[in-house]
Amino acid sequence: MARCIATWLMAEQGVRKAHELLINGHASAEALLKIIQEVENDERFVSVARGGLPNRDGYVQLDGAFMDGNDLRFGAVMAMEDIASPIAVAYKLKDRDANNILAGIGAKEYALKNGFEEVNNLTDKAKKRYLEKTENDPLKAYDGHDTVGAIVIDDSGHMTVGTSTSGLFYKDNGRIGDSPLIGSGFYADSEVGGAAATGMGEDIAKGCLSYRIVELLREGFNINKATKTAVDELVGRLERSGIKARDISVIALDRFGNYAAYSNITDFTFCIDDDEKGVRVLRLGFDENGDQVYSEADEAFKRSWLENES
Ligand code: ASP
Repeated sequence: MARCIATWLMAEQGVRKAHELLINGHASAEALLKIIQEVENDERFVSVARGGLPNRDGYVQLDGAFMDGNDLRFGAVMAMEDIASPIAVAYKLKDRDANNILAGIGAKEYALKNGFEEVNNLTDKAKKRYLEKTENDPLKAYDGHDTVGAIVIDDSGHMTVGTSTSGLFYKDNGRIGDSPLIGSGFYADSEVGGAAATGMGEDIAKGCLSYRIVELLREGFNINKATKTAVDELVGRLERSGIKARDISVIALDRFGNYAAYSNITDFTFCIDDDEKGVRVLRLGFDENGDQVYSEADEAFKRSWLENES
């Protein structure tokens, strides 16, 4: 059964468009690119692509990845500057036999050679945010980061996964997070399922979280149990070393189209196309027993989230 899921409220429009593509018989990768590029192209969203969060030196360095669950091919770009769509470059890189992960100047050179346009990703708004930080320090370094991550399965059972982000605000020059790291920020195997993560990359990477979720599915865990177990396991492991895990949120889809999300924070949102209820934005919270529950994000919540994000 065709289905798509994506992180955060910012993916809503993309998921709506991808849903239309899927019901009209389009392939998984096409729908996946649609979701992520809708976010990349929307300058309201300050944590992805053009207009993304600048690093400590005032550069917008972007990370992104694409993986094909049928043949496990993948491509990734890290700390890439001056190119508008990390997901499109990552998608192109996955077709190579080697050199599938490119960083920094190498990623930019590859993109330019392959017809991608050079753009200035430091928009006026992004520059203002950076200057405010350096002059008045009103924003905490690393605040406000988010990744658009998406997983799609089409009618033929073909799964794809992708991510795109500017990573942490005010990060060090050259820093990369989990989002372009295969197994940490994303993983998909059409024989089993797929997963993607968002949150503090340095913590997500410690548990190779997306791969762990897919492997739990392979072992027979259901989708809810796989996401919860993987996140709780990692949080617990860090705790045993005296480390308090920072934000960790995941989405996952199994090969039958069952979905789940799990997070150690409240108010993580994700978008899902549901057969009966259409495209929905769901918000995670916890009930009185500490168990995680989903609720529909209402218009007031959406408005305040979008104001915060942009
Ligand atoms: N995981 C991303 C990073 O660490 C940021 C995020 O998803 O919030 O770069």
